[in-house]
Amino acid sequence: MFRELEQREAVFDLPARKFVLGDSQHDTSVRFHGLRAGTPFGPAAGPNTQMAQNLVLSWLAGGRVLELKTVQVNDRLEIPRPCIDMQTVGYNVEWSQELTLEESLEEYVKGAMLIRLLEASGRLPLAPGMGATVFDMSVGYDLAGVRSPRVQAFIRGLMDATPTIERLRRELPSELGPLRDLDFAPALSRSLTLSTFHGCPPGEIEGIAAFLMREMGLSCVVKLNPTLLGPAEVRGLLRDRLGYTDLTVPDDAFAKDTSWDDAAAFLDRLAGLGASLGVGFGVKLTNTLIVENHRDVFPPGEKVMYLSGPPLHVLAMHLVRRVRRAFGDRVPVSFSAGIERANFPDAVALGLVPVTACTDLLKTGGYARASGYFEELHRRMDAVGAASVDEFVVRAFTRGDAPSEPPERAPSEGRDERPAAPASLTPAQLAAARLRNTETYVEGLAADPRYAAPRNLRTPRKIGRTLRLFDCLTCDKCIPVCPNDANFTFVLPPSASLPVTEPRQIANFADFCNDCGNCDTFCPEHGGPYRLKPRIFVSRERWLRDAPRDAILVEWDAITGRFAGAVVRVADGDAPAADDATSNLLRRVRAALLAPGEVNYVNSYW
Ligand code: SF4
Ligand code: SF4
Repeated sequence: MFRELEQREAVFDLPARKFVLGDSQHDTSVRFHGLRAGTPFGPAAGPNTQMAQNLVLSWLAGGRVLELKTVQVNDRLEIPRPCIDMQTVGYNVEWSQELTLEESLEEYVKGAMLIRLLEASGRLPLAPGMGATVFDMSVGYDLAGVRSPRVQAFIRGLMDATPTIERLRRELPSELGPLRDLDFAPALSRSLTLSTFHGCPPGEIEGIAAFLMREMGLSCVVKLNPTLLGPAEVRGLLRDRLGYTDLTVPDDAFAKDTSWDDAAAFLDRLAGLGASLGVGFGVKLTNTLIVENHRDVFPPGEKVMYLSGPPLHVLAMHLVRRVRRAFGDRVPVSFSAGIERANFPDAVALGLVPVTACTDLLKTGGYARASGYFEELHRRMDAVGAASVDEFVVRAFTRGDAPSEPPERAPSEGRDERPAAPASLTPAQLAAARLRNTETYVEGLAADPRYAAPRNLRTPRKIGRTLRLFDCLTCDKCIPVCPNDANFTFVLPPSASLPVTEPRQIANFADFCNDCGNCDTFCPEHGGPYRLKPRIFVSRERWLRDAPRDAILVEWDAITGRFAGAVVRVADGDAPAADDATSNLLRRVRAALLAPGEVNYVNSYW
């Protein structure tokens, strides 16, 4: 991470110019369950928060409420591949938990430690207050699973991460010097967003949330489904207003899911319980929408899939309006559905915390897209003379009646060094502004062509060529669209035996690749970089498990290739054989990956 920053002005392939580090003119900080976060933005629990490097990338992209990917007791699932379809609006096959619970805990603690190292290194010009980061756990899916000893160990392992931190601390290289003795906060998380299956009974949802708040002392957010709007409103918006006539929401999705009346009743009780216990409670809008699988991306056995992206934004915002009308600020809303550059400031103006993204971050540019969210937010804040989120909430949607002068501000507080929210803003005024903004924003949403079918059904273009092991268009699109940063470039000098033409080659660090398929969607050539480019492992165990696929294993003293089932190993010091093309290829790849000027996972590992 630090080597890449020095040599390439990037971290995990995110260029430093796309880092969101804040500035002194815009106080974007918010409170989430009473904790301060430097921005209201965060990645939604999912592919952008699965591994340590995903968390670092999300943080560098401005995320300060990091919703860790959902875990559950059933952590040995066979997940269909590919599992993400971003060709149009965004679909996935909804099975979480690709890592074991123990691996997830390790990745999350590791990610938090890397972020702390970056923050404390002094190498990033972070604006005051921009270090404040909240880690929010996400757990599913039923009460028995949440109470199971392994899930309990996971949750407690994040509430007090001391053993993991101290074990990982010993792995920090000596060149980091005093950073190895850093005070990594052991209480990594004290809140949890509850994910439940589509069709989870309301009593079960309430039971889990009550258990987490009462027995574990956690602040809790319950994620709800868009089906809460009911069949008439969901289908009316989706098909009639937005024009997604190809989508069918199965009847039993509504029949099995919680009804609005049930949800409203348990939200009321849980908000009361949270208040009585002194812990936070809120709702997350929304989960994805179950639809029939009418496409050919996922394996044919997948009868349903889960919709996200622009159409979900409209559904979820209608549900925000319903919750706001019923509960006002009593039930705070965390948001996830079709967030992108243009609507991020609107969601902030509605007082939603956090405003999380997933689908948009999987498109061309990846995490770097979030820097545009903040450019747009700052522009909109400037347009109404707002220096803080609260000021923005009050002014964002006021038109002719906007106050001509900013309200008087209280003196700067504490170490934050930024102007505090105007003293004149009371909680009641803020609540009224949030509700008013919600009504204004949602009113015209379904008529906005941004969310309608024609615009969102265009697919990424292919150029009619199929990828080969070396050389390609070298457009680099496959690198940022990978949430795990598993694809990377390296320089392979051409030779008579390996006459490559491109100055850089693409490789796939297969230890970090979960075959989600997203890089295939955006690669202009056919075949998928994750399938056809050199797939490199550093773990022998994982390389063996991956058989019979073609893959290369790089070890400290050797390189081994498996091509069409044949295995060839070349140890350092083996004499080159002029007529052995595979050995020569492997030897050259090894030398190229480990060349001193390269920064990649392979040479970091060895
Ligand atoms: S390399 Fe491609 S298939 Fe693998 S995780 Fe990344 S985007 Fe998914
Ligand atoms: S593999 Fe595809 S996406 Fe990646 S650089 Fe080559 S052509 Fe571009």
